[in-house]
Amino acid sequence: MAQLSDDCFAFGGALMRIEDAADLIAARLPVLAGTEWVSLAEADGRVAAEDVVAGHCVPPFANSAVDGYAVRFADLACDGETRLPVRGRLPAGAAPEAVAAAGGAVRIFTGAVLPPGADTVFMQEDVRRDGDAVLLPTGLKRGANARAAGEDVARGERIIAAGRRLVPPDLALAAATGHARLPVRTRLRIALFSTGDELAEPGTPLAAGAIHDSNRVMLASLLTRLGASVHDLGILRDEPQALARRLAEAARDHDLILTSGGVSTGEEDHVRTAVETVGQLLFWRLAIKPGRPVAMGLVDGTPFVGLPGNPVAVYVTLLFVVRPLLARLGGMVLPPPKPRTVRAAFAYRKKAGRREFVRVSLATGPDGLVEAHNFPREGAGLLTSLTGSDGLAELPDDATGVTPGDALVFHPHTGLW
Ligand code: AMP
Ligand code: MG
Repeated sequence: MAQLSDDCFAFGGALMRIEDAADLIAARLPVLAGTEWVSLAEADGRVAAEDVVAGHCVPPFANSAVDGYAVRFADLACDGETRLPVRGRLPAGAAPEAVAAAGGAVRIFTGAVLPPGADTVFMQEDVRRDGDAVLLPTGLKRGANARAAGEDVARGERIIAAGRRLVPPDLALAAATGHARLPVRTRLRIALFSTGDELAEPGTPLAAGAIHDSNRVMLASLLTRLGASVHDLGILRDEPQALARRLAEAARDHDLILTSGGVSTGEEDHVRTAVETVGQLLFWRLAIKPGRPVAMGLVDGTPFVGLPGNPVAVYVTLLFVVRPLLARLGGMVLPPPKPRTVRAAFAYRKKAGRREFVRVSLATGPDGLVEAHNFPREGAGLLTSLTGSDGLAELPDDATGVTPGDALVFHPHTGLW
């Protein structure tokens, strides 16, 4: 496994912008994921480990884009209908016969190899048959309805860049260019814990003062959607020794340890003490709301991330801080965000100097344009603010508020996973 340096998470600044956090991660941390070859059927959502190039061109030969008649353009009359004898028949998949187009028209079907000499195809709907001849109208351009060899992809062209998360059309392109298997990054093995004496497993009765652990199932599902292999290791009690032991164990066979809760600076925040006994811990004070400081560290050389406890802070810090970390460790190149711009239908005040993510829903305004409405309550513990919103509006660091009518950067929830 690649070695992480002790100071990989060191950061001297006061408040870190989320872009600086991502840059620091990319600069200091190695790619930990290995490479494996998988079949195309298994490759959806995986990350390409290498550039992939086309083994042959696509299409591999010039062919017809329609059902009709292939001709040599030079045989057409300039000023009226052309009558040509029909010679031969070429369905898709037939080997190119020695049927020459010159001086005649070849009956051809979509995907069939263009016969030698033919460069233009008439659609069958546009012509008239007259016995063994066909009558062709004027006005078609040279090359119409013909697909040139290699017009889609040239042989040797890069079809997939290393680091790209594969989507179904990539798999089609790989298949079309001669590949049956692709080199992909191994999934990151993530050890996931919740921490806190108040937590009970979902579905179990609640004792006084207890709540059901809701972060873990959300994190496990998000991490899985982001391509990781998640190992759910349950709830850690607020007990430094046991915590330290479990974390050290998890460090042995995982690429990343992720916890939620227990990392604020209160005296009941034992994760901090635990990590400090078995590794190093640093708090990144991120210029982000919601999101308390995020703990970054190493446990026996394995990266450790301690997220806040409040569910909305967990969600935002996972997607805007941990996601770039997962991308880096997993060898993935995160595509630049492509948020939508929508119009604010609400007023909001914020402090300058931090990025703020406001939970919003979209609706069509009176003039037919899309408007964003903020969730009526703000608490970082409100799960219904996530289930009851369409996404997050991202307010710039230097903004001091939102006025109705402002343009807002909008991230749909589903675009973040
Ligand atoms: P903490 O950072 O441990 O002080 O937790 C902050 C808040 O988040 C507290 O109200 C915790 O009860 C809550 N919390 C922590 N972990 C979880 C969890 N796994 N599921 C739901 N709520 C949690
Ligand atoms: Mg706690």
